[in-house]
Amino acid sequence: MAKSYFRPAIDRLAGYTPGEQPKMQDLIKLNTNENPYPPAPGVAQVLRELDIDKLRRYPDPCADGLRDMIAERFGFTRNNVIAVNGSDDLLTIVFRAFCDREHPLATLAPTYSLYEVLASMQEAPVQKIVLDAANDFAMPSAETVLAGAKGASLLIITRPNAPTGNSCELETLRKIAAGFEGILLVDEAYADFASDNAIPLVKEFDNCIVSRTFSKSYSLAAGRIGYAIASEEIIYGLMKLKDSYNVDMITQLVARAAFADTEYLAENVRKIIEGRERLYAALQELGCRVIKSNANFLFASPPDGNGEKWFRELRDRAIIVRYFPGELTGAWCRITIGKNEEIDKVILASKEIFSNFT
Ligand code: PMP
Repeated sequence: MAKSYFRPAIDRLAGYTPGEQPKMQDLIKLNTNENPYPPAPGVAQVLRELDIDKLRRYPDPCADGLRDMIAERFGFTRNNVIAVNGSDDLLTIVFRAFCDREHPLATLAPTYSLYEVLASMQEAPVQKIVLDAANDFAMPSAETVLAGAKGASLLIITRPNAPTGNSCELETLRKIAAGFEGILLVDEAYADFASDNAIPLVKEFDNCIVSRTFSKSYSLAAGRIGYAIASEEIIYGLMKLKDSYNVDMITQLVARAAFADTEYLAENVRKIIEGRERLYAALQELGCRVIKSNANFLFASPPDGNGEKWFRELRDRAIIVRYFPGELTGAWCRITIGKNEEIDKVILASKEIFSNFT
């Protein structure tokens, strides 16, 4: 083997595997938790009226117009908000800020697999708080989480969690925030689909960061835009680590238009929740185990417990869902909530697949 120029930690790294983005037409694509509905109408208007001459200039480096809107909505100031190039960008910044060999990560398992990849890049040890499938992947008590996270510099609680879709009680999270000595990042990528959220905790605890994305509820996954809210001191530190112009000018305009339209967001979320509850009931009726979800997807295990077979058989019928191999998750599939007709097709196909199970 030729000599490697990379750090050994990078040579060892497997890298994050994003969900497939297949090019085939007529696929029902329910594998990456995208929104099936278009972004708010104001987004199309911004793009129609875009002044091309503005492309010559660098964008506002901190996206202050958007930060102000976010701060005002949640009762903070601009200095409590950072705008990022998708919440993955926030995660990169947070890992560079808080994790290295002597500063471990604590996180749930299963959860968003990017965290572990970012920890490896920093050569940071990972302390896993394992959720029990037999107990519907519910969060353990605050005491158990704090014991698992002891000594870690960063604790990420994904709420709602992915791929399971469930959320820990807000009171449990509050106890965790109060008892944890490092930084608590609450990854709220899916919070718009849930009935509560952790933003009030930012006012109560100076170690708490809440991150959000426009990729799911605002139908802007391609725009790459997210944000985080935290104390002024934490935001000041994170700002030092971001790319100089991490959010492009078009995305800043588009995100502001989407964020302004609260009625559109509410209607979009309402439709998804309605679809989620319908699919939940139908899959239960078909004999699946389904986790009660607060997100825009469901985590379900087929009647024979063979998640991979269900995934493959759906794929044969041009329906792509997400399968995560491994001991903790191999019996399950994660299904993004699509449009009504897509949900109907998942139900019909699953009925057919399960009737062939012997
Ligand atoms: N956090 C969680 C829990 C996610 O599932 C995702 C989507 N893959 C993200 C963060 C990143 O989303 P984005 O970078 O599109 O904002």
